[in-house]
Amino acid sequence: MKEKKSVFYANKIKEVDFCETKVFVLTGNSYAIPYEIEQSKGEHSLENCKGHCPANQKSIAKEIKEKFEKFPNCCEYHKKLNDLKEFNKNDFGNIPNSIANKIMFTYSHILNNIENDNWETDIQDYIHYVVKSFGSVPTGFGEPFYLGNYYRHLISRIEPLKDGKPDTISKIDLKKRVNKLLKSFNAVFKTKNKETNLETLLSIYNEWYKIFPFNISYFQHLKEKYKTTLPLHTGRTRYNKYTKETENEKHTKETLTKILIEITKDILKTINGATLYEKGLLTDINNKKIELLINQRKTNLKKFETKNINDNTKYIKALNYWFKGEKNFLKEITPLLKNKPQQKDKNTYSLKAVAIAYFCLGITINEDNYKEILDEHTKFKSNKILQKTIVRTSQLTTLTEDKTADKKHLNTLIDAERLLSGKKNEKATKSIKQFISTFESKFNDFYN
Ligand SMILES: [Zn+2]
Ligand SMILES: [Zn+2]
Repeated sequence: MKEKKSVFYANKIKEVDFCETKVFVLTGNSYAIPYEIEQSKGEHSLENCKGHCPANQKSIAKEIKEKFEKFPNCCEYHKKLNDLKEFNKNDFGNIPNSIANKIMFTYSHILNNIENDNWETDIQDYIHYVVKSFGSVPTGFGEPFYLGNYYRHLISRIEPLKDGKPDTISKIDLKKRVNKLLKSFNAVFKTKNKETNLETLLSIYNEWYKIFPFNISYFQHLKEKYKTTLPLHTGRTRYNKYTKETENEKHTKETLTKILIEITKDILKTINGATLYEKGLLTDINNKKIELLINQRKTNLKKFETKNINDNTKYIKALNYWFKGEKNFLKEITPLLKNKPQQKDKNTYSLKAVAIAYFCLGITINEDNYKEILDEHTKFKSNKILQKTIVRTSQLTTLTEDKTADKKHLNTLIDAERLLSGKKNEKATKSIKQFISTFESKFNDFYN
């Protein structure tokens, strides 16, 4: 087998505006010469076939030989290869025989594996391995020699399997599986519909980033995170045992848009007036009202300056729903907050929050001091708090693995932090912050 030569040709360097920064995207492709592959193991093989495979292999090789004689002067695209300094027809070796093998090996692989449980990934992984072996040509140079015909041959070879006799699955299942493969082969010729190129993905992400109101006080802290996230892969990886590489599943236009809608909804669900109130962060209400009003208008106007109108309208719709809800919420809560006596606000901690706060302060709650402590922080009178005392830090940082209980515990820790903020005890504040961050990261790891 020859060494795999590969040279990258950037025929265009394009500046793309990405989330307020400029990134450079290389468009183009690499030139790599084709190489031979190995036949996978299985019951049917080219050598032990009792049917027509060996004869078919020979006739395909003959057909390829005729085409290869004219190559690269066979078409406008391939003619350009003459000017590429890396191109040397001698590098291609015995290409007619090698490609005919690739077709027959793939056919064998499908025959041998179509009845397996993981038939689909296994077959697609093998095909991916074969397709890579066709090498590559720079953009504008057509396709690697004979690659399209590889798929055409597969299609005509697989078609009759629809009515084949399976050993372990039903005839209907076999037909379904063959049809699914045929559909994926045919899709290769309609690549325009599944744009996965970097530029398209960047532009979709960029539009979303511009629409999302990261500048308002609610979301400012998320701005950096989303500015530097480039979700080009779905996060799913798979080891392909044939190429021997771990492959990242790339986002398509559709999957990226879908995930951005999910992200939008997730952010809006977790950050709003109600969650801010619970954390004691609902301040500056008047400014918030103005901010919401102005940014809702801005967001709506973005409808007129976007390219992917359909997708962007979905984000805008979700945002609009959120803005509307927020404005109503602030309108209704303002008079209530004004009427609420300051004192009462201070005295509503739960017994558990008090116990945690005093543990952080290093003060033991006992028969002698509990009445005074209850009076200061809660509306409770009985000595139940004596049963709630904390003795070990693990009581504060261990997950129960019951999501509701753990969520409640996290909120209690945050309440304790709020109580402590009035105590001006640096050591206690430091330790409660530590407990919160430990517990919160366990919580996120476990439930996300
Ligand atoms: Zn055969
Ligand atoms: Zn050609």
